[in-house]
Amino acid sequence: MTIIARKQTVAVKIGNVAMGGGAPIVVQSMTNTDTADVGQTVAQVEALARAGSELVRITVDREEAAAAVPLIRAQLDKRGVDVPLIGDFHYNGHTLLASYPECAESLAKYRINPGNVGFKDKRDKQFSQIIEIALKHDKPVRIGVNWGSLDQDLLTQLMNENAESATPKDAREVMHEAMVQSALLSAARAQELGMGADKIVLSAKVSAVQDLIAVYRMLAERSDLALHLGLTEAGMGSKGIVASSAAMSVLMQEGIGDTIRISLTPEPGGDRSLEVKVAQELLQSMGFRAFVPLVAACPGCGRTTSTTFQELARDIQDFIRDQMPVWKRQYPGVENLNVAVMGCIVNGPGESKHADIGISLPGTGETPAAPVFVEGKKVTTLRGPGAADEFKQMVLDYIEQRYGSGARGQNSERNARPTAAE
Ligand code: SF4
Repeated sequence: MTIIARKQTVAVKIGNVAMGGGAPIVVQSMTNTDTADVGQTVAQVEALARAGSELVRITVDREEAAAAVPLIRAQLDKRGVDVPLIGDFHYNGHTLLASYPECAESLAKYRINPGNVGFKDKRDKQFSQIIEIALKHDKPVRIGVNWGSLDQDLLTQLMNENAESATPKDAREVMHEAMVQSALLSAARAQELGMGADKIVLSAKVSAVQDLIAVYRMLAERSDLALHLGLTEAGMGSKGIVASSAAMSVLMQEGIGDTIRISLTPEPGGDRSLEVKVAQELLQSMGFRAFVPLVAACPGCGRTTSTTFQELARDIQDFIRDQMPVWKRQYPGVENLNVAVMGCIVNGPGESKHADIGISLPGTGETPAAPVFVEGKKVTTLRGPGAADEFKQMVLDYIEQRYGSGARGQNSERNARPTAAE
């Protein structure tokens, strides 16, 4: 695996979570409940945290929401959910944080959008007020620029300068520059007010993949502050997943990014935790982190008409995901396990040999036998309708034998596989 050198950024501590400065890339998410509804928000934060979100952002848009924040924190603590909460503020953040000090204290970080912190002369004053409150409560901030609410004064000024330039740039490039400047100028202002670089995270979100890549490359070149990556309005379903993964994987491959959020629009009634799962899978498939054992399955083709291998692959994957909260404690290192479920003799044995444990199911016209490989060696051949269940049991036995308490110590080195440089 290629070891990717991460760009060195200033480390920031958000509650108990380390970000930047070489720490593993952090997965975060955002609720879509009304924050004033304590019960619903607690339930969603808990679901996101249990799915693996290491930070959760909640909207703080009005007094009722600000009043609810400490109650949400207290209920989460009571349930043993210690995920840090980030408050998302727009326009009235300065008043809400000042009027609700318990809200300011309960949050682990404040997100400020320099484009809508206030207008004209009020903007600087209101931005400064939030920074002063953050300093008082010793909280970090994310200066989160968004192209949909970009500082219009700054954009106009840059557009005017560009129009007078002898070599004017494309309007898109001016927009990129405005986003980067908005983030950097706000960070400089926060630092003038006494905020350390170790308390600032930057983001500059756009909705088009190429724009996002361009903007973050510029930000990473001009600043060593920790960076939050995210494509805004990524969209629904596969469109949102593909666009976010395409943009963020290019940046992470270049060492850019200290935390990611996949902004998926959920299907009506859909599971909000999907964005956490996608973020984890993106980081794991790139080799940055390991969260759950990987199940490699062949795509299937004309050589197999049976759906057995697809069902078995899905079964194993679901089984592993369901068990992970317990396994994480019971079997340290199990997230590095690779399982292969293959459809026929062509690539089956080869792929299965590369996995820690793999099965090669029979394709059309092949002898109805399924060889099982453990660490590259064929250990048995399963036959008959019970083969799927027997393989599942073999996976369990392998996990127990390799990661269980009896195996720890003797296996500790073997289980600590290198991931891409964190
Ligand atoms: S392993 Fe066999 S069934 Fe699966 S994709 Fe390859 S040739 Fe097709």
